[in-house]
Amino acid sequence: MNPFPLILSAPSGAGKTTIARELLRARPDVGYSVSCTTRAPRDGEEEGRDYYFLKREEFLERRTQNHFAESADVHGNLYGTLRSEVERVLKSGRHVVMDIDVQGATQFRRSFPDSVFVFVLPPSADVLLQRLRRRGTENRGELAARMISALHELRAVPQYEYVVVNDHLESAVARVSAVIDAEFVRRERVSSLEKDVEALVSSLERELETDLPKE
Ligand code: ADP
Ligand code: 5GP
Repeated sequence: MNPFPLILSAPSGAGKTTIARELLRARPDVGYSVSCTTRAPRDGEEEGRDYYFLKREEFLERRTQNHFAESADVHGNLYGTLRSEVERVLKSGRHVVMDIDVQGATQFRRSFPDSVFVFVLPPSADVLLQRLRRRGTENRGELAARMISALHELRAVPQYEYVVVNDHLESAVARVSAVIDAEFVRRERVSSLEKDVEALVSSLERELETDLPKE
């Protein structure tokens, strides 16, 4: 069985970071790919845990060197997923969860076609605004920019394979967790399936020839 990338996208404030964090706490078979960003750290955010905070020039340099599996300009800041981060988690045998905006998700699909794409929806526009205001990390202008982006992002829902409404956190996390479990046993992902089924068929045929009484 092969571990795979799981991409969570959503309008800002819908709760994808919170869901990713809860999944990591709950599931030892899941790891997180720490992204790079040029935005300033928020209170409580840590270098190397929440993001790698880079200067714009450093980011552009890494992008030129093809370090990113995808990158995008989101609300005026650059964000990118390091190929090395994704590989690090996959090589450790864990699924890699990441929080990527809609533009980045489209690029990421080209680099890692076996990824699973989940769109997280807020239960309503009111709740989305309320959560963003309560989080208190954006000023009025930044909030408006996030609402405008949300309108574009919602149009991309048909490109995603799964949709999870983040009403109650616990249920939303359980639903994303169920997606991981279902994808894990998807036939195409079972690495030695053909060989295993062939071996079963051969054994059964041998049993039939030797053990069963002839009619
Ligand atoms: P995103 O990463 O999508 O921008 P966050 O994970 O930062 O969103 O969530 C936005 C805010 O909403 C945070 O303050 C978070 O604690 C809160 N939140 C997330 N999910 C829920 C939920 N199911 N119920 C109530 N509050 C939530
Ligand atoms: P925030 O600044 O609130 O942490 O994230 C803002 C937006 O950037 C969110 O939509 C989030 O999904 C997106 N984002 C975070 N990391 C990445 C990344 O590595 N690549 C891309 N393309 N978007 C990202």
